[in-house]
Amino acid sequence: MATGIDRPSSSNLSILESVLEHVRSAAPPGARIELAIETDLSDAGLDSLARMDVVNRIEQQYKIRFKEETLYDLESVQDLVALIENELDPELGAFAPSVRGPVRGRNSVVADGTELIQEVQHARAIELPNASSGTTPTTVRLSEVDQFEARVVGITNAGLKLPFYRVSERVQGTNAVIAGREVVSFTSFDYVGMARDVRVAEAAKEAIDRFGTSASASRLVGGNNTLLEDLDRELADFIGAEAASVFPSGYGTNASLFGHLFNEEDLILYDDLAHNSIVQGAKLSNAKRRAFPHNDAAFLDDLLTDVRSSYRRVVIAIEGVYSMDGDFPDLPHFLDVKHRHNAMLFVDEAHSIGVMGPHGRGLCEHFGVSADEGDLWMGTISKALGSSGGYMAGRRSLIDYLKYTTPSMVFSTAASPASAAAALTAIRLLKREPERVARMQEQSRLMLKLSRDSGLNTGDSHLTPIVPVILGNSKLCLWMSEQLLARGINAQPILYPAVPENASRLRFFITADHSDEDIWRTVQSLIELVPLGRRLLND
Ligand code: PMP
Repeated sequence: MATGIDRPSSSNLSILESVLEHVRSAAPPGARIELAIETDLSDAGLDSLARMDVVNRIEQQYKIRFKEETLYDLESVQDLVALIENELDPELGAFAPSVRGPVRGRNSVVADGTELIQEVQHARAIELPNASSGTTPTTVRLSEVDQFEARVVGITNAGLKLPFYRVSERVQGTNAVIAGREVVSFTSFDYVGMARDVRVAEAAKEAIDRFGTSASASRLVGGNNTLLEDLDRELADFIGAEAASVFPSGYGTNASLFGHLFNEEDLILYDDLAHNSIVQGAKLSNAKRRAFPHNDAAFLDDLLTDVRSSYRRVVIAIEGVYSMDGDFPDLPHFLDVKHRHNAMLFVDEAHSIGVMGPHGRGLCEHFGVSADEGDLWMGTISKALGSSGGYMAGRRSLIDYLKYTTPSMVFSTAASPASAAAALTAIRLLKREPERVARMQEQSRLMLKLSRDSGLNTGDSHLTPIVPVILGNSKLCLWMSEQLLARGINAQPILYPAVPENASRLRFFITADHSDEDIWRTVQSLIELVPLGRRLLND
């Protein structure tokens, strides 16, 4: 690729030095390459997340914002130096657009004057302080907002509708009313029918009568109540852990926990398909972090053999069930790696609690191992437990410490009384009615079998309620979602960049309440519509 510099001058020598420093600190453990101006970022071990991390740090340091498209084919240290050089135009100061013709491809030549003018206006409007004079209000334009808008317009111009933020007017179990029409929904995490159970609803209503609609404070300082305390105990017993504590939110639990327990002396290793809350938490921690290939415990074993001794703490973060693919990890193998390398194991059971194991007690029950073997059992009450909130379970001493110190617990209002009562009742019901779990597992087996027998690609999904139908074309996924809705079936697409384009898919969440008829009808519609859509979209 073309570069903006041949040989480092004295001014760009310091740029080079700081780029090398950023790359060095983002490089994963075990990357032993000598860094130089020509070093390829992949050779330095930087995956896409680590590259973005480097880019973010550079943007902060130089107070610049690179155009998104200039980042697509960033290959080497030299490319980064050239990008910075291009942004630091002496005439306009640090916020200048790339008028000298940025480094690469699409951007290397300013194709016409309009684009240039837009670039200049854009950069000034976005970034330059005091860009307006007098009383004229300043319009702050953000490049990512413009790009998003362009993407939405592109979809609409292609005659497609965005299926996100679809509005339900009423929801009753698996049935919803959308745009005045009754549909069967495959978009809910209510895996074992708790959110529609009258006993759960009654408990939530009573809790409002007794405690009001809000906990009105964090648990630590006034928001605690008997419902939350009972729920802590029920959860610990259900999971088989010494103790558990209900947090205000599942997302917040992860986003806060990693930064709380781990710092620059530590290493966080998370599955390549880990939920955004885990990745964000890891980012906030300042620990070294690295994604490892999906479900690959053997890879971790090799890596830790090389690097374990360089770190104070190492944590391996996995999920009980992966919500994009509907597969799950080989827990005993991960436990073995954890023990061999004196690492901690964090398991996010958001989609496995209430789902895996004969009684829905989660991944430990599925594999017949004790929760004492792992360290940090995180989960949510927002899915199979028909409520809203998160939890942490594990050794009592650790949970006590987390209750008193984790920012998302200490500084956030507790889960509402209605939420606590709903989850508490849901767990007690599930203990008495494990057949709900068997029913959900039976229905998801039916969906998987019918789909596979019809030649649909369901990826690695097995034994879980999440069944993706991989179509490999975002437009086709959008079209399918719309067509299914017209037939009274509500299913959401998962598109690039959430997954690679060739893995774009429709995702079906199967619950105990879906009837055989719901599932037959859905697979029949898929069989009829997919070939039609491919023909129409010339796929
Ligand atoms: N972890 C995983 C794996 C999830 O899928 C989610 C939510 N979809 C969360 C954490 C966040 O949980 P909550 O919705 O309870 O905030």
